[in-house]
Amino acid sequence: MTIFSRIIAGEIPSYKCAEDDRFYAFLDINPVAKGHTLVVPKQEVDYLFDLDDETLAAMTVFAKRVAKAIQQAFPCRKVGMAVLGLEVNHAHIHLIPLQSEGDMDFRKEKLQLPAEEMQAIAAKILANF
Ligand code: 5GP
Repeated sequence: MTIFSRIIAGEIPSYKCAEDDRFYAFLDINPVAKGHTLVVPKQEVDYLFDLDDETLAAMTVFAKRVAKAIQQAFPCRKVGMAVLGLEVNHAHIHLIPLQSEGDMDFRKEKLQLPAEEMQAIAAKILANF
């Protein structure tokens, strides 16, 4: 079982931003920007581009709804979308509120936000979903 499957199952806590019967969205624990959210399929597949076409399309539509909720909650110029998958072998999309190009720099030092702030960010996105 991947760490993300354990999060979806509720075995590991997460800051939930959105959910439906097939997909789950939660805050990245080491965000590059406030509101940095991960979208994952409940189906356990290693890499995003190994998903079957229908699931990938549905996940993209779900991610679009999450992106709109992020933008409502945290006004930004755009919401960036990235696929890395170098650390966790469970398909996922990164959604990141953007004010500038540098907000998508995964090499820069990650934010360390207190639990109450993470909770408040997730609640705001969930309320707009
Ligand atoms: P990637 O696999 O796309 O290279 O990176 C995985 C991302 O998942 C990283 O940005 C990392 O901070 C995040 N991540 C890894 N483990 C956990 C976890 O247990 N909880 C949460 N919320 N995020 C995680």
